[in-house]
Amino acid sequence: MNRRLVPFLNWVNLSTPCGLAVAALSGCRITRGPHGTLLAEGYRRRLPRARAFTVGSVVLVRGSVPQGAHAGFDTLLEHEARHCRQYAACLGLPFLPAYLLAAGYSLLRTGDPASRNPFERGAGLADGGYREQPARPVAGAVRAALTTRRRRRPEDTAS
Ligand SMILES: [Zn+2]
Repeated sequence: MNRRLVPFLNWVNLSTPCGLAVAALSGCRITRGPHGTLLAEGYRRRLPRARAFTVGSVVLVRGSVPQGAHAGFDTLLEHEARHCRQYAACLGLPFLPAYLLAAGYSLLRTGDPASRNPFERGAGLADGGYREQPARPVAGAVRAALTTRRRRRPEDTAS
């Protein structure tokens, strides 16, 4: 998606105004960021725990963005800019429940909200500071639990 189109779409779909409201309620300082984003520095609320997160085209950052060449932070901001594009693709705020569902699925599969979350994978796990965790055999664990439970039922054991 075009770099100028994403900020426009996120204004129209109201996700950027919502991001600015979150930033204002948190007392953040707002400046223009890279990749068509708005940077909201000084986020202090407990949740989410991430160093940075995105609402619309607003990237909310704990503390302040380091000045000068900071490769780690630059890649984090690129990661967050990809989330801005995901907001636009989801028509704005529907991104949030879709993201939470994906994070829950990833948590179930890997014990980590990012590793199997298609939004985080699409934004780049390493760029977001995530280390990919292997999938756990959830289906096998569920099957084993059901088999054990079935064996315990009296009608199955009485013959
Ligand atoms: Zn992310």
